[in-house]
Amino acid sequence: MYNPKILEGINPTIVKQYSYCPVIPWIQVKLNIYEPLTDSMKIAVENTNPPSGRGQVYVRGSRGSAIIDEIIEDEGGRVIVEKKAYRSHNYSRYVEQAVSTYLIAKSIIPGIRRIKLVVGNRDNVIDINEDLAADVERILDLIEKSLNSDKPPSTSPNPKKCGSCWYRRYCPHY
Ligand code: SF4
Repeated sequence: MYNPKILEGINPTIVKQYSYCPVIPWIQVKLNIYEPLTDSMKIAVENTNPPSGRGQVYVRGSRGSAIIDEIIEDEGGRVIVEKKAYRSHNYSRYVEQAVSTYLIAKSIIPGIRRIKLVVGNRDNVIDINEDLAADVERILDLIEKSLNSDKPPSTSPNPKKCGSCWYRRYCPHY
């Protein structure tokens, strides 16, 4: 089962959490506190298991590590498949997460040309392009910088987000 604690360095889940609130990865890494998997998270993990006969791929590069649900050989190159059980109101976080998987994996798995994001029963194929990769690269740089600092990243507490945030009891801003 996926556990962010066993992954080293930056991983796509940290990217998704950073996009939600930059303080969460800082609390996880600096205070070593992680939200336990809820029942719906466990179901999501189960629902995104690859079909039998295919295995997930764990990659570890200089920037961090990631678990890739599946890699497909396609015309013109390889395709990373990223599976999500549920649609999100913030789809861009899924895209950032998928592109960060690509950035972590690209030095180990050459020839990746596309990402297939499977959300529920819908597929969206994302062509890798320099602008998209550079945007996510900037996010990785910001995460690295914040995780190397003893001071939590600044943010403006948001009553809606903070009210439902499991980490608020440990949050230096709340
Ligand atoms: S309580 Fe608010 S500011 Fe603190 S980690 Fe949660 S969402 Fe971020």
